Parts: sequence; C-alpha cells; structure tokens
Amino acid sequence: MAAFETHAHDVLVIGAGGAGLRAAIEAKTAGADVGLVCKSLLGKAHTVMAEGGVAAAMGHVARADSWQVHFRDTMVGGKYLNNPRMAQLHATEAPDRVRELELWGAVFDRTADGRILQRPFGGHTHPRLAHVGDRTGLEMIRTLQDRAVSLGIGVYMECTVTRLVTGPGGATGAFGYRRTTGRPIVFPARAIVLATGGFGRAYEVTSNSWEYSGDGQALAYDAGADLIDMEFVQFHPTGMVWPPGVRGLLVTEAVRGEGGILRNKDGERFMWKYLPEERRAEYAATDEEAARWVTALSQGKETDARRPPELSTRDNVARAIYTEVREGRGSPHGGVYLDISYLPPEHVRRKLPSMYEQFKELADLDITAGPMEVGPTTHYAMGGIRVEAETGQTTVPGLFAAGEVAGGMHGANRLGGNSLSDLLVFGARTGGAAATHARATDAEPYLDPIQVNDASRALDAPLVRDEGEDPYAIQRDLQALMGTLVGIFRIEADLSEAIRGLADLRRRWENAKVAGGRVYNPGWNLVFELGNLLTVSEAIARSARQRTESRGAHSRLDHPETDETRWNGVNSVIYRGRDGAMSVGTTPLPTMPDELRSLLGSGQ
Ligand SMILES: Cc1cc2nc3c(=O)[nH]c(=O)nc-3n(C[C@H](O)[C@H](O)[C@H](O)COP(=O)(O)OP(=O)(O)OC[C@H]3O[C@@H](n4cnc5c(N)ncnc54)[C@H](O)[C@@H]3O)c2cc1C
Repeated sequence: MAAFETHAHDVLVIGAGGAGLRAAIEAKTAGADVGLVCKSLLGKAHTVMAEGGVAAAMGHVARADSWQVHFRDTMVGGKYLNNPRMAQLHATEAPDRVRELELWGAVFDRTADGRILQRPFGGHTHPRLAHVGDRTGLEMIRTLQDRAVSLGIGVYMECTVTRLVTGPGGATGAFGYRRTTGRPIVFPARAIVLATGGFGRAYEVTSNSWEYSGDGQALAYDAGADLIDMEFVQFHPTGMVWPPGVRGLLVTEAVRGEGGILRNKDGERFMWKYLPEERRAEYAATDEEAARWVTALSQGKETDARRPPELSTRDNVARAIYTEVREGRGSPHGGVYLDISYLPPEHVRRKLPSMYEQFKELADLDITAGPMEVGPTTHYAMGGIRVEAETGQTTVPGLFAAGEVAGGMHGANRLGGNSLSDLLVFGARTGGAAATHARATDAEPYLDPIQVNDASRALDAPLVRDEGEDPYAIQRDLQALMGTLVGIFRIEADLSEAIRGLADLRRRWENAKVAGGRVYNPGWNLVFELGNLLTVSEAIARSARQRTESRGAHSRLDHPETDETRWNGVNSVIYRGRDGAMSVGTTPLPTMPDELRSLLGSGQ
C-alpha cells in the first residue's frame, strides 16, 4: 500500500452538518477520540440552510401539546411507514435536545413570558417549531460547531470520502482525498458514523446545495449495507420558479406557517379542494376561520380556530400545486401564487427576514407588497440507510448512520421541522453507540491494502484516460431523466425506461474524462459524486417501480390508491444481490406495541 496521509480515530464521523456534529459531540463526551470529515468548510453544511425551525413538543405555545401528539402527527404524516420506535424516541427526546442547544448558547425567538417560541407547520397539530426567525439552521450549526470546537474535536475540512474499507468484522476505515490538493487520505477507525445528508442533486430543480450527492447512501451500499424506502423523495411544494437561475431555491414552509395563502391564476384559494376527506375536520372550514387562526397566531394567543388548508402535509400541497399548473391554472412562470402581503409589513420582515431578502435580491419582488410565485422542488430524502432505532447501527457492523442519510424515521413523507429534531436526537444516540462500539473493539483497525489501492486507482482514472466523456454532460442527462421519468407522478413504463437509461448513463460514467489536475478541480470532484448519484437514482427507480400503490410522497398514476392489503406496514429494501447487481425487496416494519398503536386512533 502506498504511503498515504493517515489519521486513525476511535470514531470517524463523516459529515459535519447537524447530525455529524451532534454525533461527534456525543462520542467525544463519551471518551472516544473523534475525527470529523466534511467536503466543505466547517459550518457550511446543508443544515445551515434550514429555515423554518426544529419540531419538539415543548408545549410553550399550545399547552395541549405532548410527545404523544407529536408521535401521532409524525406517523400520520409518514402514512404509517415510519419505524415506530424511531418516531417514539424522536418525539420523546426532541424537547431535551432543543433545551440542551439553548444551554449551549442558541438564542431562539421568545414568547412574551421568555420561553422558546414555537410556530405552526404543515401536518403538526400544534405550534411546535422552535425557531430563530427563518434562520434556525444557522443558529443550530453555530451552536453545535462552537461546542465541538471547544471539546477539541479534530476536523478534516474540504475532504471527500470516496470509499469505506471493510474487513471480516465490518467497517475498519475510510479512504478519501483532500479537495484542496487532490492528495489521498486514509482514516482507520474502530467505528464510523455516516452523516452525509441527502441526494437532491439527482434532480435539476432542487432546494439542495451541491453537497447533496448521495455519497453516504452509495458508500454504505457499496460496503454491503441495506437502503430502505428510497422511493420516498420529498418534493417541497414551494420553491422559487423565477428567475431561471434560482429555480428550485426553497421558499420556507414558515411562510405558510405564518399565514401565507396559496392561490391559482384565477385567484382561487385552491387548497380547499385538496384536503384529504379523512383529515378535513382538522382544518378550518372557511376563510373566516382560517383568518382567525392567523390573527391569534400573530398575537401569540391560543384559539379554538383550526389551521388553514395551506398547512396540509407537503406531499399533498406539492401534488395540489402540480395539478393546478398542469390543468392550466398556473402563474406566468409555471407556479402558483403564495401571498403573505396582507399581513403588516413589519411583521413579515421580522418573522421572515431571509425570505424578504431572498425575493428582494433575487427576483426584485417585495413580498410585503405582493404575492410570490412558487412551485414544487426536490427537497428531502425520506429513504436512506437502514439503521437500528436505538443505536443508528447499519447492517454492516461498526458502521452507523444518522440524519438525512438514514432511513426509517419519516416513513412515506416527512413533516417540516422533523429533520432538525431527527438530527439532534439520532445524532446524539448514534454518536454514543459508536463510542461504545469503539470501546468494545480491541484490535487496531486493519485497512485492507487491496481495497485502498483500488480506491486510489479510481481517483486517478478520469485524469489519465486518453479519451472519455465530460462528466457535466452525464450529470445533465441524469437530472433530466430523473425529473422526467422519476418525478412527482410516476408510472411503470417510465420507471422501467429510467432503469434502462441509468444503466446507459453508468456505462458513460465509467468512461468519464476530465481535463486539468487534482487541485480544486470541480469536474474531477463531480466524477465521484456522479457515481454516487447514479447508485442512488437506480435505488429510487427500482423501489418506485416495485411499490405498486400511491402513498405519501410516492404517487403512481397507474396505481393511484393506497393499497392497504399489499403495502401496509411494508418497507422496501435495496441490497446488493449475490450476482453483485442491485436488488430490491421488502421487509415488514417492526411490530408496534399496543400502547403506541392506541395513540394513532382510528387512522391505523
Ligand atoms: C433550504 C432548506 C431549508 C430547510 N429547512 C428545514 C427546517 O426548517 N426544518 C427542518 O427540520 N429541516 C429543514 N430542512 C432539511 C434539513 O436542513 C436537512 O435535512 C438537514 O440539515 C440534514 O442534515 P444532515 O446533518 O443530515 O446533513 P448536512 O447538514 O447536509 O451535512 C452533510 C455533511 O456531510 C458532508 N459530506 C457529504 N458527503 C461527504 C463525503 N463524501 N465526504 C466527506 N463529507 C461529506 C458535507 O460536507 C456536510 O458536512 C431544510 C433543507 C433545506 C435544503
């Protein structure tokens, strides 16, 4: 094995967003020697972009809130495909994790009597999202980062991990390279935590940053781990649609949480038409009742009015907008209107400062004076690496996962605000479990030289090939394929065509060629990310073709109903088959204890 730069740790955390930082803090506090790796600079992870807030049933605004109601909302939102134990741990532990952030220095918005203020969000029965205006992620990352640095955790910034190394007993380390110099770097480790986030970059229109290329899901799959529920890709209902350069950029759900109204080009408040019959009683019956709810909210008062129809779950609102546009009732740039301008301008600017600036700067629009144009954008991965609820352990020993990269917690659809709380709850649990695993592992981690040298040769390949294809052209075709054939609405013929198309794209990718050298070469970086996106995209298409029903974020035009007989309580699983090819199957959900089932009422 060539002499590579080497750093050994008890616990290696790959990813420095909310999940990775929280895991690193927990593992370090438990006495482990921790290394933290990230592709960009510390503090620039995707978590920093989170706007609306972190969901936790603290009951500061609605005293009736409780972990039981949060659990039920999460399961209802996830169409009962969530791992029930994960949903329970999440609902019970989120309040403590948020209070802990406050102790570590996070400054949340406040109620009149000085407690953490909570705002409403889609699918949550009560106002539940602790927030800092619409910059919650920034405050969260800043707080966690300060904590991690003060604990002395070693950080490897601008490093991309391209391969996990395994031995007979499970994961033993990771191989990657420094983006600044292109030099290889290896990390022997007793335990590894993957916290690399989602894969929105498989689609052209997305709220996700360049970092979201499904690296962790693909690294885990290649190392032998299972993925679950990959068909459930969340299309957030409100991204910017204009101007073209910012298409897909998120318009936070906090706009609807603060009272934003959706209308089509005819001025119709169309969400009234799309409320699911079985949940209609939870929403206001008239414009007048919805307006009373908004007024009470803006004055910080409790009310008996029910929430507006715009606060239906994301999957439902995204399909409603898509349908309005497809049926010719869209706005000039292919979206619908979202209006918050009927509220006092200073209130809008105080509660939604980033949205105000975003539209002013990017679209030359004052949202306190007129409506925004919005449309669906690829936003979040509900599916991901299969993990144990209590520990975040994957199906590969010594390999753990937390945050958006992990599956199970959100079922078929995630409620807004439940990701930031997921990162905190399962980041902490997974970091602790990884430290325990490392303590119990006596042997020095052994890095198989064949795997390491293989990974090193793969780094060189796109640079030394005589001829080959530009990776940007392959990426463009991948994004077009996923948007057209594996988008919001799906049918079997399209999904089969997508799987064939992805095989073609992989053949082209195997022959990708980049010009230039290894130093800060974006085309070269893209080659590795593109390989991961191809793996993840195939997993999405195969899982989506297998699930012959519509549920949550997965809508099949050829199977428009939810199939309670065939698909209730069934997760899809992606794994590497004996022949080395990607295989798809199913696995039953863990059994739900009666005391949890009783919380779901008649819905399940
Ligand atoms: C615009 C926007 C607004 C949002 N608002 C909210 C909200 O209000 N509330 C809410 O609950 N959720 C929100 N979400 C979702 C939430 O922000 C994300 O799900 C969450 O931040 C994911 O955190 P994470 O720790 O899993 O990953 P990230 O924060 O993305 O961190 C991933 C880390 O992994 C690193 N990494 C990736 N690949 C590699 C590799 N190969 N090698 C080394 N390092 C790697 C990255 O550099 C990064 O450090 C929002 C999302 C977006 C896009």
